[in-house]
Amino acid sequence: MTEEKFIHDSKTVLKFIQCYCDNEHFKIKKSKDCINLNYNDKDLNEKIEYELCEKCEETLNYSYVKLQECPHDEKPSCRKCPRPCYDKREWKLLAKIMRYSGLRFGILKIRKKLFGRFEKSA
Ligand SMILES: [Zn+2]
Repeated sequence: MTEEKFIHDSKTVLKFIQCYCDNEHFKIKKSKDCINLNYNDKDLNEKIEYELCEKCEETLNYSYVKLQECPHDEKPSCRKCPRPCYDKREWKLLAKIMRYSGLRFGILKIRKKLFGRFEKSA
């Protein structure tokens, strides 16, 4: 995949995991850290910063490594991949996180739309 795609996908996966961790693990101690994005041994001069619990940090690191190792030139969405590289446990967990956060982002979008409409009519 292209470097742009790699950066985009890394940021996307972080966004979803961060949303999940913020909402579901707010009682768990989190640590701040960042990943300097690296692809095909090339430093991309991009970093992603996060504040996650230990478990979610592991999930993020796992996804990041898998993304780095993705063999597809045209990376399909992981859901449609003919050869998923995640092991079952991690796959289930990430699917859950994506669903959870996807739903939340969807709700936020709708709320914004509605709120915008109310403002206009007021
Ligand atoms: Zn978490």
